[in-house]
Amino acid sequence: MLSLDRPFTYELDEGLGAGIGSLVQVPFHGRLVRGWVLGPSEEVPDRMLRVKKAVSTVRFFDPSMLEVLRWVSERYVAPLASVIERSYPPRVASEETMASDPPRSSAPALRPAPALPPQTSRVLAGYRAGSDMLDALRGGAGAFLVRPAPEDEQRVAVEAVGAALAHGRSAIVLVPELDPLPATGSAILDAYGEHVALFAGGSQRARYRMWLDIASGAYRVVVGTRPAVFAPTRDLGLLYVSRESHAGHREERSPYYHVRDVALTRARQSGAVCVMAALCPSGEAMTTGAAEVIPRARGWPPVEVVRPGPEGRAPRLVSALKGVNRGFLFQPLPGYGVARVCRACGEPAACAACGGMLRSQGGAVRCTVCGADGTCASCGAADFGIARGGAERVEEWARAVARVPVRRIGPGDRPAPPEAREVTVGGVEAVKDLGPLGLDLVAILDADQAARRPGLAARERALATWMEAAAWAPPSGRVIVQTRHPGDPAVQSLVSGSPDRFHRSELPRRADAGFPAGWPVFRVTGDAALADELASLEPRTLLSSGGEGQTVCLVALDPGAVRTFGRTMRALSERGVVTRVEAEPHL
Ligand SMILES: [Zn+2]
Ligand SMILES: [Zn+2]
Repeated sequence: MLSLDRPFTYELDEGLGAGIGSLVQVPFHGRLVRGWVLGPSEEVPDRMLRVKKAVSTVRFFDPSMLEVLRWVSERYVAPLASVIERSYPPRVASEETMASDPPRSSAPALRPAPALPPQTSRVLAGYRAGSDMLDALRGGAGAFLVRPAPEDEQRVAVEAVGAALAHGRSAIVLVPELDPLPATGSAILDAYGEHVALFAGGSQRARYRMWLDIASGAYRVVVGTRPAVFAPTRDLGLLYVSRESHAGHREERSPYYHVRDVALTRARQSGAVCVMAALCPSGEAMTTGAAEVIPRARGWPPVEVVRPGPEGRAPRLVSALKGVNRGFLFQPLPGYGVARVCRACGEPAACAACGGMLRSQGGAVRCTVCGADGTCASCGAADFGIARGGAERVEEWARAVARVPVRRIGPGDRPAPPEAREVTVGGVEAVKDLGPLGLDLVAILDADQAARRPGLAARERALATWMEAAAWAPPSGRVIVQTRHPGDPAVQSLVSGSPDRFHRSELPRRADAGFPAGWPVFRVTGDAALADELASLEPRTLLSSGGEGQTVCLVALDPGAVRTFGRTMRALSERGVVTRVEAEPHL
């Protein structure tokens, strides 16, 4: 609870063997509760209760990690206790007693660093600022923003990790998702084998066992999603954030946090290097001031911009598809098409239950809002004129054009690269880190759709997805993008393979909207007094909406104002004015 977010002071008997990071049992308001030892207190009250016992011999954090956890608590206005609790997997006490793990304070020496596999290519030396990054990895610190050439994405990660290992340091590689395992994660596993902890999934017991093993120094490299940013790795030299702009790097449950920002902080705290890698970095990453590491020679496939023809099929696209052996067609809209008009009464089509849009998908017409079977709001009929579009329709016409099989990757399907002679059709869920694929053709069928999507970051996400798909075309494939707005900065960035043009137009746009990239944003829920209380903090932006005895406010703050904001939120939640604080909501 935010209202109870403060430390309490107890007397700690040395005989208990507890210290910073220990989980202990203490009396609290007449009950016995668990808490973590944060360290000695300078303010000693007259009367102190004693710590009852140490619950575990494990130290769950060291002073350096505690600083990171405190930063998370402050930056995202989350109770420190919940941040600590989420920084390691749920305990399985029997794993602690079974194991021969000594406490972390006296952990054994790390295994010797593995030798770099000889086949590892050296690509970073050919990158602008690449040697600066390699130098930093050899014992220094710093933050770098890497935009790999498409065919280098995995090799850059392997090389960066290798540089840290070669100098006796360890590395954490953060991937946005694990199922399927991204090619970057597989490449790290292939290169460093038994030295790599795949910190993901499995039973609760297996997860906790893995965490204890990482803490004991059994692994030099950790590969994992969000929670791995807190992995108890020692001699940390590198935090590598793969596909930094991916939405999966934001923790969606309270306590909220963003892996990029925690990684930057942890790197600063432990004198390590933070690498943010992405074909298309986020606006937030662009504003961190990290040194940009990019290929000296332009590594990007040719991108042709064409106007969509009838039903979104440009003649150039159709003729290209005829000669394709392996290709990918990107169509983020699902289904076969959208109902436009009722054939019985001639009225515009709308859901009889809720008035929502009706879509033809999987052979049936349903409401996209409430999911009801499609019946006309005016006359109850179920026969509609359909405006064709969507991935199912693309699959249909592509089958008629292509000389190889066409397969659609739907929202429930496992994303996989096209076979040797195959064309796949899919949306965002099909575009994953699958490694360089060397396709003949990648087509972005409706680039203009991105501009119609709601949300401040929708265009940025669309561009990142296009670039990740386009990266499947090298070394000899081509990219075709269909748009009515060839001068659109996102389209231009796709053509050049550099997001600079896009960010030059997007960053001012976001600032104009009141939410500059890199400025902390919070969604606060509370009672009727909330908006006035927040306004008195003079935030950069304050939007509020009310109703049903509840007020929801969206606040953007100067980065320097977060501490004061957090103190105020804690005080307001004690008074009951604030009920919920959500950091970095999707805008
Ligand atoms: Zn409906
Ligand atoms: Zn009708």
